[in-house]
Amino acid sequence: MAYDLIVIGTGPGGYVCAIRAAQLGLKVAVVEKRATHGGTCLNVGCIPSKALLHASELFEEASHKFGKMGIKVPAPELDLPAMMAFKDEGVDGNTKGVAFLLKKNKIDAFHGTGKILGAGKVEVTPEEGAAQTLETKAIVIATGSDVAKLKGLDIDEETIVSSTGALTLKTVPAKMIVVGGGVIGLELGSVWRRLGAEVTVVEFLDRILPGMDSDVAKQFQRLLEKQGVAFKLGSKVTGAEKAGEGLKVTVEPAKGGEAATLEADVVLVAIGRVPYTAGLGLEEAGVALDERGRVKTDGHFKSSVDGIYAIGDVIVGPMLAHKAEDEGMAIAEILAGKAGHVNYDVIPSVVYTYPEVASVGKTEEELKAAKVEYKAGKFPFTANGRAKANATTEGFVKVLADARTDRVLGVHIVGPRAGDLIAEAAIAMEFGASSEDIARTCHAHPTLAEAVKEAALAVEGRAIHM
Ligand code: FAD
Repeated sequence: MAYDLIVIGTGPGGYVCAIRAAQLGLKVAVVEKRATHGGTCLNVGCIPSKALLHASELFEEASHKFGKMGIKVPAPELDLPAMMAFKDEGVDGNTKGVAFLLKKNKIDAFHGTGKILGAGKVEVTPEEGAAQTLETKAIVIATGSDVAKLKGLDIDEETIVSSTGALTLKTVPAKMIVVGGGVIGLELGSVWRRLGAEVTVVEFLDRILPGMDSDVAKQFQRLLEKQGVAFKLGSKVTGAEKAGEGLKVTVEPAKGGEAATLEADVVLVAIGRVPYTAGLGLEEAGVALDERGRVKTDGHFKSSVDGIYAIGDVIVGPMLAHKAEDEGMAIAEILAGKAGHVNYDVIPSVVYTYPEVASVGKTEEELKAAKVEYKAGKFPFTANGRAKANATTEGFVKVLADARTDRVLGVHIVGPRAGDLIAEAAIAMEFGASSEDIARTCHAHPTLAEAVKEAALAVEGRAIHM
């Protein structure tokens, strides 16, 4: 049977692409080497981490916040296996949901490793049984990414773990060192800190959350420190040795200097992710990679070979599930003769800690570097009625608007539910809104979203509650 499209990898990029293409009438197959669909995101990424973030946040609230709200309960006890089962249930529900959607859209799903034999030909090798070759008009590579390794730290997923191992620890480590102060390290570090670990984040740069607005990153670091997370910035981990039950971890100043030794029970390596193309046969097929091992694409997802396309973590751009999904939709529409498009200027990014951090558009540093004149409006959650009522007043909203046209160029939030609030900013920016547009839009009271409106009012110095 010849297909119109074969998608290799059923993460958020691949499965969304397959479904959209099927909706548009294409005959589609997917190839996935994992036993379940959903890729990194559903199996070992977004979904399990958010389940543990949610459960551990409630554990922390029950331990420290319920009393203040007049809820008297005995001190909560952690049942880690049950919390892990709760997480696994969330993963199971989501991966089964994707399998159902593929079936519903009449997409043929092949389990096995996909290898491109050339334009129009994909070989599928299952774990057991013989390989088969499928024929197709177009191939979309959606094979995602893998954990970036660090020299001197051999990941065993028990004491030296990647994010995957950090989602399945069997006991709460007394001491955890997180290597890397990016989103994944801070989220998973927060989970284990809430469950009782003493967490130290070691970051090479002199700041956390590289790429995010530095104002937001500084405030966020202070808030995490208040929660008990320790930071060693401008430092690098150069090795870890087993010492009894635990580890001795060597940390050096990033700029060179004397090494120090830290003790830990678990080290989480979270220094980033790398594109995953192993076993795909790209070299033989003539598909070019860039200097960072990503599949080179032409701006419309086409690789260097006609009929072969790529999306998601395996190509340039932020390694985010929603970016992969939008690219999946876009390439499906392009292949069906429509005008698929992704607006890379408006891709929100969120850290799902407490408080959350969320950002869309340009940071102040980026605007300064590009010599764009801008106005900033900032509004703290301490002045928001709902945040006060809920006693969740940490953080602020910052709106950046073009000084001449008032068009919103970026919105940055650290605060409660920032990840949900950022959607309003993304929609405003997608429609080319000015800060005046947001300021004049009626926001329900009392909501956290009023802080977004007030920050927009603050662009012209007329916030009401400040
Ligand atoms: P993937 O999801 O990586 O899927 C690729 C699939 O391809 C995999 O299932 C793989 O098995 C399969 N595959 C690879 N090679 C082959 C082959 N040769 N043959 C067949 N199949 C193959 N992003 C967010 O937006 N929000 C979050 O909250 C978030 N949290 C995260 C938390 C963690 C701990 C991690 C690790 C990541 C997180 N991410 C998050 C990032 C997100 O998971 C990725 O950006 C997203 O999964 C990328 O989607 P993708 O479709 O490109 O690839």
